[in-house]
Amino acid sequence: MYDKNNIFAKILRNEIPCDKFFEDEISLFFNDINPQARIHVLGIPKLDCIDFSDFINKAEEKTVSSFFTNVNLVIDKLNVRKSGYRIISNSGLDGGQEVPHFHIHILAGEKIGALR
Ligand code: AMP
Repeated sequence: MYDKNNIFAKILRNEIPCDKFFEDEISLFFNDINPQARIHVLGIPKLDCIDFSDFINKAEEKTVSSFFTNVNLVIDKLNVRKSGYRIISNSGLDGGQEVPHFHIHILAGEKIGALR
């Protein structure tokens, strides 16, 4: 069940601040508080969903499409399309997910090392 007190839910309710990069009616993108690369932006939908599968199952198709279109837009706004980037979404225990609100990591700005 979705935990309405997770930190990203609190950010979406403006209960705690974030370093906002881009926002529209369906999504919010902000800088990660503990960046793992020179550029580390997180993208979240404004929908109560725990992880990628929960988002795909719950969201209307046009919301899914708009969210990933926005990920692509942010990649352009970050000016990293040419230099390269990595997008990641962790899910569950084995995926190493810490915050139980679906999010995409966008890592860029330097050579990102191997996954392990
Ligand atoms: P994950 O392990 O995929 O759930 O990633 C959660 C990410 O959220 C981590 O990279 C954290 O550094 C980041 N994070 C946690 N709290 C905040 C916050 N208040 N603002 C920005 N990023 C955060």
